[in-house]
Amino acid sequence: MRTPLITYGNYLNEQKRKYKKDPFKSGNWAYDEKSDAYTCPNGQQVKFKYYSNPTDKTGFQRTFKIYECENCTDCPLRKSCTNAQEGKKRKLMINEKWEQQKEYIRAKLLEEKTGAIYRQRKIDVEPIFGFLKANLGFTRFSVRGKSKVENDIGLALMAVNLRKYAARS
Ligand code: SF4
Repeated sequence: MRTPLITYGNYLNEQKRKYKKDPFKSGNWAYDEKSDAYTCPNGQQVKFKYYSNPTDKTGFQRTFKIYECENCTDCPLRKSCTNAQEGKKRKLMINEKWEQQKEYIRAKLLEEKTGAIYRQRKIDVEPIFGFLKANLGFTRFSVRGKSKVENDIGLALMAVNLRKYAARS
């Protein structure tokens, strides 16, 4: 079995102290499984209301749980908490499957063995992708189909290896 060791978009941001201490990030709110509700910084319950299943432009459908604060009226923290129009309540859109994936990744990166592999990967592998994108302008495949894509990336990686070889000799 292979273990995916790749971060998601907001991972590095989430590790920052500023993010962890921000009381308006819903990820920092206390969650009660029994009532399926979060508690916001103003002490209000933000409860599950309904499911939403939007389809994106590629046709992929996701399921979100929509939570809504019980009472945002006259909240002294409103300006820092939400851009919702006056009279509207703060809502949260939670994609449970995605949250579970993120939790899995966070746990893996905290483990000593997998965390060390990930740190090494950043040194060994990611500079190659950086070079491909920034110096060779290889930001997307120009062909379709597995074998053609393998040829495409094979040629690009060969160019990277030749460059390394030339630099050594
Ligand atoms: S605006 Fe609503 S959700 Fe935000 S802190 Fe105030 S009561 Fe809570």
